Amino acid sequence: MGIIFGPIASRRFGKSLGIDLSPGGKQCNFDCVYCELTPAKPLDHYDKVLPPEEILDAVREGLARHDDIDVLTMTANGEPTLYPHLAELMEGIDALRGSTRTLILSNASTIDHEDIRRVLCRFDTVKLSLDCATVPCFKRIDRPHPTVNLERIKEGMLAFRKEYSGNLIVEILVVEGINDKEREIEALDEYLRLLRPERIDLGTIDRPPTYRVRPVPYSRLRELSLSFDPSLHVHISSRKDISDLLPSSYSEEEILETLSKRPLTREDIDLLMDEESRERFRKLLDEDRISSLENNGVIFYKPSGKTIDN
Ligand code: SF4
Repeated sequence: MGIIFGPIASRRFGKSLGIDLSPGGKQCNFDCVYCELTPAKPLDHYDKVLPPEEILDAVREGLARHDDIDVLTMTANGEPTLYPHLAELMEGIDALRGSTRTLILSNASTIDHEDIRRVLCRFDTVKLSLDCATVPCFKRIDRPHPTVNLERIKEGMLAFRKEYSGNLIVEILVVEGINDKEREIEALDEYLRLLRPERIDLGTIDRPPTYRVRPVPYSRLRELSLSFDPSLHVHISSRKDISDLLPSSYSEEEILETLSKRPLTREDIDLLMDEESRERFRKLLDEDRISSLENNGVIFYKPSGKTIDN
């Protein structure tokens, strides 16, 4: 398996070239029930470590082959922040990336370590997973290594929020029967109101997981998204199971009311509203009664004059 994968076209980040820090197999300190990789006992360190020079050579070659890459996405068959030479690697990447942006996808397990937070601060965008804010739910869904502690993760994320000036995105993956309960979403909402990430991606299982767990339908994601404080930017990132959702008719007032409760993306509008309602939406937009706001590559719509905190 190669270190570099892609390019992948991403709606939000543009053309992305992936960097896998563990191409030989899964090395992770979680064993999430929804993981699509082969189940493996959680580790607190990498057993197989690639030299940073080898990864840098692969990145250099990838960027030379594809001269239109918008973002380098660091990930792993597992958790990228367990890679022990991350700081050195990022120094090398910063030296060769030019104007290409950087993104890391992490399960947040190591964010309580100051040295890890320092490296993460070098990325333009940091996307951290947080599936549950309570310990029993976290242990059930993410099945972490015993050294991982949810309360320390939450404190570490708050510290990172203060230290980091880039785009912080939090990803919540909803699994039926585990973190789809109101009380779990309330606990997440309470914490995320303190954290105030730029965006929250609320998704569900899109690809076949190894364990027998099930996604929730889009309609449930939508309901859960309404349980978050309206000032939080919640983006429903799963579009797989939308067969249960029929577009509805919205009056102008209903459109404005819905948007005042929760800013919506164009995709949400296309899914939720029937043709006539979309026509009303376009009219409100033309009349400047609705305005748009760009947030990390996603356009949200809200009633004009209503401010949305970042
Ligand atoms: S953090 Fe990612 S790689 Fe690790 S077990 Fe969970 S889904 Fe799999």
